[in-house]
Amino acid sequence: MKKREALEKFVEQLKNQKMFSSILVSNDSQESLNNFANELSKIIFCENLSIENDQCNNCKRFESKSLPNFVFLGDGSLAINKADVIELMQKFSLTTNEVNKFKVYVLANAENLKNESGNSLLKFIEEPPENTIAILLTKNKSQVLPTIKSRCKLVVLENEKKSETPKNLIEQILEKDKNSILLSNSELKKIEKSQLIAMLEEAYGRTIIKNHLNIAEATLQLINDLKFTFQTNLAIDVFLIHVSEVI
Ligand SMILES: [Zn+2]
Repeated sequence: MKKREALEKFVEQLKNQKMFSSILVSNDSQESLNNFANELSKIIFCENLSIENDQCNNCKRFESKSLPNFVFLGDGSLAINKADVIELMQKFSLTTNEVNKFKVYVLANAENLKNESGNSLLKFIEEPPENTIAILLTKNKSQVLPTIKSRCKLVVLENEKKSETPKNLIEQILEKDKNSILLSNSELKKIEKSQLIAMLEEAYGRTIIKNHLNIAEATLQLINDLKFTFQTNLAIDVFLIHVSEVI
């Protein structure tokens, strides 16, 4: 499920006052899991149940980490600390209406709930105090105890696609036809030398050695000419002629 879609579903549940008390979220990346847990928690506290940060009082308090009803346990790798669990249980057993009715805790590594401190938390998950929401995160859902899984609403988050970096001018030129490549010379000559070198080096490492090995040598030659000779315009022409012939 996509992150946005999952958040929207939970907003619906909150609006209908049917929020789950335990949620297990699975994804390969701890960073994505932590982000999701933080975003969902913020929505739970938001005065308007807003997915965007609407800057309401509670959203601001959440951002400044000053909500007493929110606890984040674990860092995704270490075993769960018993003292933290005891503190959490004490804190959440007290009734407080300070922010809103909910208390939320996040556990960054639900697969580690097998040790002693995990056991005490297990009890807490099985019999949660009123209006307590547990968001359990895992990078390995097959390692999570079945007793936990059976009590949780499972959300398998889709991996987020890395946004592609935009192609620089050199990489764009490489996609053009023969004539357009040659006509790019005036554009390239206008670019400041150090900037052009940086662009060529970026294109070399990112595209040329992967997809256009036949112009690798010419690219290095042009970088070299730009750095050490004054025949910049000539070097650019030579490069583009070569590229237009072999690409
Ligand atoms: Zn808000």
